[in-house]
Amino acid sequence: MKIAILPGDGIGPEIVREAERVLDVLANEGLPIERARGAIGGAGYDTAGEPLPESTLDLARAADAVLLGAVGGPQYDTLPRDKRPEQGILGIRKALGLFANLRPALLYPELAAASTLKPDVVAGLDLVIVRELTGDIYFGQPRGRRSTGNGEREGFDTMRYTEGEIARIARVGFETARKRSRKLVSVDKANVLDTSILWREVVTEVARDYPDVALSHMYVDNAAMQLVRAPRSFDVIVTGNLFGDILSDEASMLAGSIGMLPSASLDANAKGLYEPIHGSAPDIAGQDRANPLATILSLAMMFRHTFAREDVAQRIEQAVRAALHEGLRTPDIAATGERVVGTRRMGEAVAAALRNA
Ligand code: NAD
Repeated sequence: MKIAILPGDGIGPEIVREAERVLDVLANEGLPIERARGAIGGAGYDTAGEPLPESTLDLARAADAVLLGAVGGPQYDTLPRDKRPEQGILGIRKALGLFANLRPALLYPELAAASTLKPDVVAGLDLVIVRELTGDIYFGQPRGRRSTGNGEREGFDTMRYTEGEIARIARVGFETARKRSRKLVSVDKANVLDTSILWREVVTEVARDYPDVALSHMYVDNAAMQLVRAPRSFDVIVTGNLFGDILSDEASMLAGSIGMLPSASLDANAKGLYEPIHGSAPDIAGQDRANPLATILSLAMMFRHTFAREDVAQRIEQAVRAALHEGLRTPDIAATGERVVGTRRMGEAVAAALRNA
């Protein structure tokens, strides 16, 4: 189990340190965990002049899985675009061919009050969004800005998917649904977009290989509405890059804090990059205030998807539950009167629960 550890910037190193505490427990139990550390984002720029240094990419290529903290910070905002921290993440996704982004949104009963929706609407929320990550209007050519010739400027992008790209993400959606409640909703805009008409056709064709999964289709505008109206009606959603970007952020808010939500980005062979969905939170960096649970839960996803150790994944998730059940809360998830602890104390509590489980 070769893991590349890329802490990044801001709170990245603090939250990754707590996830490593969990790895320490598992390594002590005898799991064959090997770790190597690299710089990415602003940290990459500071040490090697690049947001994705060649040495970091080599390390990630040699690993089975990558654990990433977060990148970015105000000190890097004025750098030219190719040197900016987020290029590190875009670059590593591209270099490793990570086309499938899995984002679970799960509301822990202990945190029902942290959601902006009424507890009776979100209680029991447990869904996964499978988002295509390397195609669509974010990468389609041609794109640009130009003059129309009559004194006006115009901007244009190209939405584009090949059937191969659609089929491979659809399969990840069906496989994910198969491991859960066998319900898959494919989200598109087939009433308006040709790209979406093809999307719907291909997903329907792939469905023939998964007769045990109930497939339905939904327009993206309706999906955005249903996510806040009846979020529990969803289990697994599969969608393209643009729609998935927006819907997964919407879904994350249903679950309360951004500090609780993990993600996985996978290639065709289950190699993956695992990271919390939040950013580097420069406003609280270095203050022992960051919630490390999204990073620890990302590690659980790593054991589930890359190492095929569902047992270890569940133990990590149960250890997180135990820490919450004990009443421990980092500031971002604390309601009035609850017991507030720091990043380190929360990490220690999860590690202790794991050790005793
Ligand atoms: P952010 O997610 O870093 O922070 C948004 C808010 O949520 C802040 O108030 C922050 O304190 C809080 N927050 C985030 N993570 C938290 C945690 N674990 N515990 C407690 N509170 C948490 O988003 P932002 O402020 O828009 O961006 C800050 C920097 O992060 C920028 O440079 C941005 O480019 C970068 N960013 C990186 C990633 C990534 O690495 N994948 C993703 C988004 C943003």
